[in-house]
Amino acid sequence: MTCCTQLTGCRHTCTERPEGCETVAIAELTFDYDHWFLDDLPGDQDARVHPRQVTGAAYSLVEPTRTDSPTLAAHSAEVAALLGIKPGLVDTDQFAKVFSGNEILPGMAPFAANYGGHQFGHWAGQLGDGRAIALGEVKLADGGHQTLQLKGAGPTPYSRSADGRAVLRSSVREFLCSEAMHHLGVPTTRALSLALTGDKVMRDVMYDGHPAPEAGAVVCRVAPSFVRFGSFELPASRGEENLLRAFVEHTIRRLFPYLVPTASAGKPLTSDVLVAWLQEVADLTADLMVDWMRVGFVHGVMNTDNLSILGLTIDYGPYGWLENYDPDWTPNTTDAQGRRYRYGNQPEVGLWNLVRLANALYPLIGEAAPLERVLDSYASRYANGWNGALRAKLGLSSAKASDADVIGSELLALLPRIETDMTIFFRLLGDLDLSKTASNPTNEELVAPLLPAYYLPEELAGDVLAATASWVRSYRAISGNAGQSGAERQQAMHAVNPKYVLRNYLAQMAIDEAETGEFGLIDDLLDILRKPFDEQPDKHEFGAKRPDWARDRVGCSMLSCSS
Ligand code: AMP
Ligand code: MG
Repeated sequence: MTCCTQLTGCRHTCTERPEGCETVAIAELTFDYDHWFLDDLPGDQDARVHPRQVTGAAYSLVEPTRTDSPTLAAHSAEVAALLGIKPGLVDTDQFAKVFSGNEILPGMAPFAANYGGHQFGHWAGQLGDGRAIALGEVKLADGGHQTLQLKGAGPTPYSRSADGRAVLRSSVREFLCSEAMHHLGVPTTRALSLALTGDKVMRDVMYDGHPAPEAGAVVCRVAPSFVRFGSFELPASRGEENLLRAFVEHTIRRLFPYLVPTASAGKPLTSDVLVAWLQEVADLTADLMVDWMRVGFVHGVMNTDNLSILGLTIDYGPYGWLENYDPDWTPNTTDAQGRRYRYGNQPEVGLWNLVRLANALYPLIGEAAPLERVLDSYASRYANGWNGALRAKLGLSSAKASDADVIGSELLALLPRIETDMTIFFRLLGDLDLSKTASNPTNEELVAPLLPAYYLPEELAGDVLAATASWVRSYRAISGNAGQSGAERQQAMHAVNPKYVLRNYLAQMAIDEAETGEFGLIDDLLDILRKPFDEQPDKHEFGAKRPDWARDRVGCSMLSCSS
């Protein structure tokens, strides 16, 4: 913009500034860069953007496509602070331009990464960043390292037949969910910003022959690394052993430096180090599955290109949150037949994906036995993590473990019998007052405090009522012996059982509003989901059960991969 004539305190990045304008010093976005991915790994020699197979290279240098009229819709203040961006700079035109791909700052080095992947169980060959472009790798004041990546920034050599764009609805979902997951304590890529491009993008939401124009958007994702399992699978599948070796050396030395022996400078890392690293990745993946399961998150597309080498939740597509507890549920209509990525199958798929990673690393290790030992350790790592998480959710961390595990598995068998809201059920369990015991309570009296968790409370009758009341009896007996006061118990349980999660319908309401140009609900949700374990009494409605209108609505209970 040209000068806004406000000479002091202005936060615009004006292209023409009259004498006396004092904005210059504050209105500059700058970062310290350390492009270690580009420095460590070979790049594509072909500078053209057209879709193609890129061999022998980990990335292609490519710039975002400029867009019609970029504007900022939302940002995360925490991520801006993490990156050292001064608060006022977020409101500048420059911020909107940079984080929609319309301006490249000095020192940035935009690139798209090359990787492959197994999609829905089948090897899909080269995939790569078809619409994500990393702007640069930033070194933080505290020594941290974060890559800034725009999703939806235009075509790259990896775009195949697609347009390199993203629509507003999927971008709102990615923006909100990455931040919500972070605040729930789940490892995840972060989201700095959500920008509108001003361009329209054609999409056929349900793949049923009804394409329509939608608003284009760009999310700036932030993570220490976007390397995926598929980053190793692609060079392995092509017999590119040097590239595979370079990827492994980069990943271990930069991202897992504590595994690198001091005497290894200048020498290739040994097989022992590689195996120790695979063990770390297996542990991180198992722990991530525990985290997803404890909060009721369903990723929806756990292809190997969507599994982070750092154990972060990455690539928010047709994900969803369990509302009624149903281990078979998947939000992804594209996966409706096989339900490969259903809630209850996620831990298993984590292992399946690790097997693909181990296969990719085999040429560098040459022995199957140590890799198999790592893979064999996954089941117990997951089981221990999950049992611990479930005990904590039940407030039974200090009860006898075997009692807690039995009561936990009985509950998980009970919950799907009638539609029971997972999040509300566990929250109400924390509120249960164990000191109030009628001398001979009826089944109805026992289950009464839990009734708000049921979608159709009248279904809590007959056998299900008897089984639930009997479970509550056993639960009360075990909890009563766990040696905590009522208040301690409630506090401990509320600290692990969120009151607020990004329910599918809440995200859809924010999208409906955003599509009319209003972004207030995005900010409100961001704010509520910053403190998911707090009661926030004036926000109760955001912790409510899914309303009836959302039960079968596209975007709420059904999502396709169209984004
Ligand atoms: P996803 O299912 O989002 O993990 O995407 C799988 C692959 O398709 C990745 O290589 C993406 O970069 C690519 N892709 C998805 N959508 C687009 C798009 N609109 N334009 C170009 N590539 C895309
Ligand atoms: Mg992906």
